[in-house]
This record gives sequence, structure tokens and C-alpha cells, in this order.
Amino acid sequence: MLNFTVGPVMSSEVVLAIGAEQVPYFRTAEFSELMLENEQLVKKFANATSDSRAVFLTCSGSGGMEAAIMNTLTNHDKALVINGGSFGERFVELLTLHDIPFTEIKMEKGKALKPEHLAPYEGKGYTAFLFQKHETSTGVHYDTKLISDFCKRNACFMIVDTISTFLADHFDMTDLNAGVMITGSQKALACPPGIAVMILAPSALERIENTKCYCQYLDLKLALKNQVRGQTPWTPAVGVLRQINARLKEIDTAGGAMAEVERTARLAEYFRNKLKEYDLPFTIISESLSNAVTPLHPTTQSAYQIFQILKDEYGMWICPNGGDMKDNVFRVGHIGCLTESDYDQLLKAFIDLKDKKFI
Ligand SMILES: *Cc1c(COP(=O)(O)O)cnc(C)c1O
Repeated sequence: MLNFTVGPVMSSEVVLAIGAEQVPYFRTAEFSELMLENEQLVKKFANATSDSRAVFLTCSGSGGMEAAIMNTLTNHDKALVINGGSFGERFVELLTLHDIPFTEIKMEKGKALKPEHLAPYEGKGYTAFLFQKHETSTGVHYDTKLISDFCKRNACFMIVDTISTFLADHFDMTDLNAGVMITGSQKALACPPGIAVMILAPSALERIENTKCYCQYLDLKLALKNQVRGQTPWTPAVGVLRQINARLKEIDTAGGAMAEVERTARLAEYFRNKLKEYDLPFTIISESLSNAVTPLHPTTQSAYQIFQILKDEYGMWICPNGGDMKDNVFRVGHIGCLTESDYDQLLKAFIDLKDKKFI
């Protein structure tokens, strides 16, 4: 199987081997040490300040999104949220559910964020800003500097969903002055799903301290208290946390976050150049691409049909889209353990489909 989706993605041999082992008991000094090392490495890769903290929740990335809202925002806040696709929509739903007052900045699919999108909200008393650094559903990488500058000028607390972009695109939590960043184990961390990683800057720690969380399982006060000694309040996905540890060390040894971002960028570029070279009937739909994924509109065949035939007849997975994008968009991911020769195989399959007049 070759997997070009955006998660779960292909894992390295080291990560796979741990998945085949027995899962150990975890209330031990050894597991605590591993968890503290995980915290230190994710903070390093995000360039978080030394007084920031990281926690590992046993849930998917969406659980991290909900935890961020439940633990740092109240109905005294006035939030701005960018909605450019299905993940932005999720933030909107969560803010609605938790009764946080908010204004939605609705973006057209595939469009980049420009200063004029933010200008109307300048000096209007907003206290928080939520957005996806990379809206994975449409493959749009938002201008984080633009948002960060807005937040600094307007004293907005920033919650950034970096679930599909962390380790795929440059990210500097200190420079952006972000309060909360969220990622998940099955995206560029290239581990099985099951863990949401959150990095919390001092501004977030203060909000957490002063906010009552109406969910015991996702209460970050409890997660933070336990993580001081490398533990979690509840039984975590122990096996996945061990895989994350191996993966973080693998990245560290290979040159750290910067090297991983560059590796991903090279793969994305390789694939995008070949697409042009072979003149395939696909157009890129995003004005502002991330290294994590190439979102494509096929001009001659349903996107979902292409996904199906590649899966069933070629043993390859590209990433289908849902809802009203089902027939119009598919995505080719560049995160996980992929190589240029894997893309050569995918391109060969596309050319074969073109020769057979399927596309
Ligand atoms: C994948 C993804 C999520 C959701 O993560 P789950 O692990 O499926 O809950 C949220 N936001 C973005 C930007 C994503 O790419």
C-alpha cells in the first residue's frame, strides 16, 4: 500500500516496529522520562518559550481543538475565527456549542488571506483569534504573520490549529506570540492516530488557571499538573506516545524541525513539477499552498472516481474530499514517510489512467 492521504500517513520502520510490541504499564519512571522528553522535543520543534508547557491528550486532533476552547475561553471573550473550509467550520461549531461570542471571517475556498480580510475588525475589542494555519480541506496555508501582527496590535489571544502543518511548514510559536498550538499524532508526526499534542504559552497557562473547564476528561489543569512528572490523569494511548517519542528523536537526529520541513518541501515541489511536466488534467485549487498537501481539481473525471480506481486497482490512496467538494477536489499529501520514487509510482498510475482515457 502507498498512502498519499493527509492522515493517517506512512510511518517509518522504527515507528512500525514499536507498534508490533506489547504495550507496557505506564505508571513508571521510564514512561515519565519518555513523556518529559516528548514535551521537551515538541517545544523545541515549535520554538516555544522555555516557560511554555506541552500536554498529550488521548483523543484525535479535534479533541485538542475542543480542549483549547473549553479551557481558555469564556463567554466574556469576543473571538474572531477564520472559516475557509471544514476545519474552520469545526471551530465555528465548537464556539457555538460552548457559547463563546464570536465573529466568523468566511473565506472563499482556495483563497489566500489578505490584509483587507482583517481590516474591518481592527480596534473592535476582539480578545481571541482562532484559525487553521493550514486549512487542510482546501489546502490553503494562511498568512500567519498577518494574523500574528493583527493579534499583537489588538491584544488577541491566539489559538492556532497546526494539526496538518506542524513539521511540514515553518512554525515559530515564540515569534508569532501564539497562546495555544494544537497538532495530532497521525499527520506529519506520522504515527497512528490517538494523541492530540498541545503547546501552551504562559498566556494560555494563565487563562487555563482562571477558567473553569466543564469537562473532566479534557481539563487541562489536570493534564498540566500530571505532566509536571511526565504522567497523564487517565490511561493514555501508551503505545502511540512511545511511537511519538521514537519519531521525535528520529527527526531530531536528522537535523530537527527545519530539516523535516525542507524534506517535505522538496517532495511537494518534486510532485508539483512533475504534474506540469506530464501535463495531467488537474489544476491546483489553492492560491497559497502548504508543503503538506497539493489540492487538485480534475478537469475530466470525478475526483472521487479517481480516488476509487487508484485504491482498488493500483493499491494507492490519495485523499478524497467530502461534501460538495467530493467530485471536484482530491488531495495528494506530502507528509509521512514518502520518497520521490513513491511519487513516481503515483504519477505512473495517473499517466496510465490518462492513456486509458479514464482521465
Ligand atoms: C486533521 C485535522 C484536524 C482534525 O483532526 P482529527 O485528528 O481528525 O480530529 C483538524 N484540523 C486540521 C487542520 C486538520 O488537518
